[in-house]
Amino acid sequence: MPSTSTTTSVTTTPGGGTADADRGSDRDGARGAAQSQNAQSQSQSQSQSAQSQKAQSQSSFRVFDVSVVRVRALSPNLSRFTFGGGDLDDFAETGYDQRIKLILPLPVVGLAPMPRTENWYGDWRALPAELQNPIRTYTVRAVRRQLAEIDVDIVMHGDSGPASAWASTARPGDPLIVVGPNHHFDGDCGGVDFAPPAETGLHLLIGDETALPAIAAILEKLAPDARGIALVETPHADDRLALGYHPGVEVRHVERGDGLPGSALVPAVRAATELLFGTGTRAGAGAVEDGAASAPAGGAAHAGADTRNADSARAAEVELDDVDVDSAVLWDVPGEYSGIPLCDRTDVYAWVAAEAGVVKELRRHFVRDCGLDRSCAAFMGYWRLGRADLA
Ligand SMILES: Cc1cc2nc3c(=O)[nH]c(=O)nc-3n(C[C@H](O)[C@H](O)[C@H](O)COP(=O)(O)OP(=O)(O)OC[C@H]3O[C@@H](n4cnc5c(N)ncnc54)[C@H](O)[C@@H]3O)c2cc1C
Repeated sequence: MPSTSTTTSVTTTPGGGTADADRGSDRDGARGAAQSQNAQSQSQSQSQSAQSQKAQSQSSFRVFDVSVVRVRALSPNLSRFTFGGGDLDDFAETGYDQRIKLILPLPVVGLAPMPRTENWYGDWRALPAELQNPIRTYTVRAVRRQLAEIDVDIVMHGDSGPASAWASTARPGDPLIVVGPNHHFDGDCGGVDFAPPAETGLHLLIGDETALPAIAAILEKLAPDARGIALVETPHADDRLALGYHPGVEVRHVERGDGLPGSALVPAVRAATELLFGTGTRAGAGAVEDGAASAPAGGAAHAGADTRNADSARAAEVELDDVDVDSAVLWDVPGEYSGIPLCDRTDVYAWVAAEAGVVKELRRHFVRDCGLDRSCAAFMGYWRLGRADLA
């Protein structure tokens, strides 16, 4: 289990800026970072060599110049990108749902404008808009420090966004910038939101294809005696091949085909919570069990009922902010940033990451219908249907 959690609150887009800052960039990039620097210092900073940054970096997150080593199709909609680079041996191996930033090239100038500074995010924001490289958030699927390599599994959704468009043409040797946790940082680097209490009866891992790399990484690091259910929706049945395995976690995969995001996941979750919490919300899910584990359903039903009874009163006291997912990041995770206290033991811990509108619906369902205590849940909008990421 992670020793600490890093969290952000549900928040509106800060004054004309980027709501992505609220789910990590400011903290990931430069904890306590200083003011934006002027153009002169930016150009000086940009000319820093990777080696000198390696020697100097004290940040929790830092900038890594990398290049594509390999690209491998994992499933119809997911491809694994292996990045290598001279100083990726400084990339911290944190695991779970460790988020990172990919900095995408601009036409003509490529990656040159991106500040390679400790205060990379503030410096990036200070650049003229046309020199701001697109930033997108991803999960680091694997870190091999000894080989100076990392893997990132990317959903190939066409060329409508800079990240997916870049991925669709990327070849070995192509350069990219990754901002990720610094192995040399003395403390919690941040950017890991999976933080179940040490004593958790049942882990519920719920997400779509963009959350699949995080769920796979969580399954890899979860204690062998942990119990759980992973409910995953993807466009194609074969996308589950990228998911992985844990002996105590029952994987239920639902295929949405050409349906809208959430069209298979929401009914599947409602069917599961009817058994777990007795909410009477069954909607005919048709979930396909993947046969990954001995089903923990019996124990889960009992545990869920206990949680509901114990926590529903407390959950009702917590105001459930309504989030406009068109203008805000839905990021509702317990911790110091959200003000939602962390609980130290729970019967059910829910980790939910998917399209923001879907997460909004599931959050309402868990908190209002199921009475799940928000201290025992992480709700994260990973992307927004019909809208670019807010970075
Ligand atoms: C913490 C975190 C971790 C994430 N981890 C991963 C990961 O490991 N792998 C991964 O693939 N994604 C991951 N995502 C999601 C990813 O950041 C978004 O999908 C992002 O919007 C992709 O950027 P883009 O430039 O391709 O598209 P954008 O420029 O953001 O959007 C352009 C258009 O593409 C659409 N779009 C965006 N994403 C998708 C999608 N997945 N399917 C269909 N349409 C889409 C948007 O609705 C919009 O219409 C993660 C997000 C977060 C917040």
